[in-house]
Amino acid sequence: MIIKPQALPCHIQTLQTIADRLPHYHPKFEDIQKHLRNLIAGYKGEAGLDYNLSFIRAPHIILHNLRLKGQNHHFQMDTIILFQNAIIILETKNISGSLQFKTDFQQVLRTLNGQTEAFKDFHLQIKRQSEQLTELMKRNKLGTLPVIPFIVMANSRTIIHSETPHVLRNVIPPEAIESEIHKALQTIQTKKLGQAQLKKVADVLINLHEELEVDWLRKYSIDFSDLQMGLQCPACRKIGMVKNRRGWTCSDCHHFSNTVHHDALDQLFRLKGDTGIVNQDVRLFFRITDEQSARRLVEKMAVRKEGTTKGVKYFKLTL
Ligand SMILES: [Zn+2]
Repeated sequence: MIIKPQALPCHIQTLQTIADRLPHYHPKFEDIQKHLRNLIAGYKGEAGLDYNLSFIRAPHIILHNLRLKGQNHHFQMDTIILFQNAIIILETKNISGSLQFKTDFQQVLRTLNGQTEAFKDFHLQIKRQSEQLTELMKRNKLGTLPVIPFIVMANSRTIIHSETPHVLRNVIPPEAIESEIHKALQTIQTKKLGQAQLKKVADVLINLHEELEVDWLRKYSIDFSDLQMGLQCPACRKIGMVKNRRGWTCSDCHHFSNTVHHDALDQLFRLKGDTGIVNQDVRLFFRITDEQSARRLVEKMAVRKEGTTKGVKYFKLTL
């Protein structure tokens, strides 16, 4: 049973917004496109797993994209599966080319089109995830289920090798998920949790989830004003819908919407991150001139206000 389904994470949506609005001639355009491609490839790798997960027979609960606060740092897991006697972590890698696991240097080397680049050791990553999850379970009095991690290579064309093959024993293709999980579960005989307890653990973990927010503009030193302003058409993705009496119309494909401004405000809040937005940001982003209309638009949303009249700043309330 999946109770936290796949969804394109907010920070990827925000990077997509920037990619859609950054002019082609901008010096950061290529970097943003490349970063977005990598994040989307990772997400697609995870999203493709659901078919393979549907073959699991033992009672279980699946949670996707869980980001939890460890003792010192946040840690993120692509997929965790709660069973009555263990928790399985699946860390998905969607990387093309040839991969060499060099555990002695805590690196994975990827060679693609004659170029080699290094990734941090995936084994080290899943070891830390397991330790942090075990610690968090203990801290929140959720029991002491053993945690078993796997690295899932989502791209079937990836070539994998290592000078010490035993390190590859928990590196598996998506098709082997069901059989490898059952093999691992068989080594743990005692059932520790009932179904109701399992559901409770899942609920607590979902409540502890904290969505990752990234201030991409700051990270890439891009000015908000470098972005193309205007509302984005949900049908053809072109920027620059035109306001009329009943709503907004795309000047390109003539798609009409009277709700697109909600998405646009969401985009604006995410772009501006924790700095909040001011009336002028709304007018620029929506390409409107009237201060009153801008205020009405933003105040219809669940917002927190700071300051008064001219200097008022809005922050989105997370519900
Ligand atoms: Zn359109």
